[in-house]
Amino acid sequence: MRKISENLTLVRDAITKQALAVKRSPDEITLLAVSKRKPSADIREAFLAGQKDFGENYLQEALEKQAELKDLALTWHFIGPIQSNKTKAITEHFAWVHTVERIKIAERLNAQRPSSLQPLNVCIQVNIDRQDSKSGCQPEEVEALARRVTELSNLKLRGLMCIPSPDSPEPAFNDLAALRETLNQKLQLQLDTLSMGMSGDIEAAISAGSTMVRIGTAIFGARN
Ligand SMILES: *Cc1c(COP(=O)(O)O)cnc(C)c1O
Repeated sequence: MRKISENLTLVRDAITKQALAVKRSPDEITLLAVSKRKPSADIREAFLAGQKDFGENYLQEALEKQAELKDLALTWHFIGPIQSNKTKAITEHFAWVHTVERIKIAERLNAQRPSSLQPLNVCIQVNIDRQDSKSGCQPEEVEALARRVTELSNLKLRGLMCIPSPDSPEPAFNDLAALRETLNQKLQLQLDTLSMGMSGDIEAAISAGSTMVRIGTAIFGARN
């Protein structure tokens, strides 16, 4: 098995290579290391190799690892489904939430955000390819949700997120990029984030304009 530091180098090189291939600056693309179901020792190893942003899907697991890693200056992103009884802990312990899909959840995250912290960075998750089983709001719901989030002063709307079907992610990535453009023009926003691309579709996501790729397996190895 490869070491985490070596995997990180390979992933960073892949990001740079693909960005340059499609005439984008590699600096526009943030690598989010998805550490769900991996121990805090793995996160520490990635941090020592220069990684700062980490994504977690399960609140309880994330809180335990955050406590174990208190000594490190990490930026935590919540990327899992959000139940309303979890919003308080999420908004207290994370810098970013990628999976906002309902107004009620946005309002709770806003109301419960501690005043000592900067506004919570938010992406709206969109079920861009209309999968039956997947979470995310429908594309036609995004505008109303975006309008509401921009009214909430403890939230900072950064952009859109999707998890497309692995069978054909390219059209979904392009559609999400187009949707961000539409929102920016129509609502006069400056949304700077497209959270899209995972270990299996990182190149396609970067071609379509991803600014944040969420990579688990390619960094930490397969999950149990
Ligand atoms: C698990 C997960 C990832 C990372 O997936 P890999 O295929 O392991 O890179 C990215 N985004 C979300 C929302 C996830 O749940």
